[in-house]
Amino acid sequence: MEKTQVEKLIIIGSGPAGLTAAIYAARGGLNPLIIAGREAGGQLTLTTDVDDYPGFEEGIQGPELMAKMKKQTERFDTRFINEDVISVDLSKKPFEITTETCSLFTEALIIATGASAMWLGLPSEEKLKGKGVSACAVCDGFFFKGKVVAIVGGGDTALREANYLSKLCKQVTVIHRRDQLRAQLALQELIKSKPNIDLILNSALEEVLGEDKVTGLKLKNTQTGEISKLQVDGVFVAIGHKPNTDFLKGQLELDKKGYVVLTNETHTSVAGVFAAGDVADTRYRQAVTAAGAGCKAAFDVEEYLESSK
Ligand code: NAP
Repeated sequence: MEKTQVEKLIIIGSGPAGLTAAIYAARGGLNPLIIAGREAGGQLTLTTDVDDYPGFEEGIQGPELMAKMKKQTERFDTRFINEDVISVDLSKKPFEITTETCSLFTEALIIATGASAMWLGLPSEEKLKGKGVSACAVCDGFFFKGKVVAIVGGGDTALREANYLSKLCKQVTVIHRRDQLRAQLALQELIKSKPNIDLILNSALEEVLGEDKVTGLKLKNTQTGEISKLQVDGVFVAIGHKPNTDFLKGQLELDKKGYVVLTNETHTSVAGVFAAGDVADTRYRQAVTAAGAGCKAAFDVEEYLESSK
């Protein structure tokens, strides 16, 4: 690719928001270039059953849904670069996007980099990452076949992962810091129906025990302060996500948690730069809302390019 070539539209990210933006933009004649990232496909590639994306009456596997979306973008000749973006310069036009191997220039930009799993920040968690501590049941669950595991968190992700692991593991314990789960009721009912899933409420993980591999957990009751130990072979952390915006710091407005601030629909604080999906969504964070936002971003780009002619 010529270094001096200026694209009409670059989309950073290839989850539901980025791919939907590409479908609409390509059909609108913008010939988009997607910088897909090394973890192309986003969070849905790390999930199993997706039961709430419309159009799949029996549900669909996350990776399969993303593969279908990618194929659909390819039908409209979207181009892909499978690299991470290192930095962007949004202070002048065209915008400059630097990836691991090249610099690219574009008149308009859609940021759809999504969010990644958060960690508790315990030294013992860090020490035992990959040795029994994981943030992705679908990636690592297989290593715990027939074993005893725990999951920290009380949201949709935690319960979905508990359900997934209950099919592989002997016993699954969900540990949540409050007395009520945050997850949707359907998921709460689902895990209640599983005989090998139990729930420990009002408890925080204080320390992951073990030297070279996880042997147990030290828990603290958040109401009484009482300390207890739980024997497990592995622990999955499922406490939410943080937006992937480190490369944007100082370039456009981010809120204090790092989410891209939207000024109007998908518009950001920099004219010509738009954002869609979990990277700018502190509230809904669903595949279908991300796809919807991607569609809106493509329309907003078209309007912007039209008006800046
Ligand atoms: P979430 O809804 O933010 O839930 C995070 C959970 O982790 C909460 O229960 C929270 O406790 C707990 N937590 C946060 N920080 C913690 C800490 N430091 N120590 C202990 N516990 C901590 O995140 P999520 O479950 O990843 O879901 C993110 C979004 O994706 C949500 O909008 C969700 O609906 C969506 N999602 C949907 C599906 C689906 O099937 N439709 C599946 C997965 C995710 P508190 O409850 O006390 O705050």
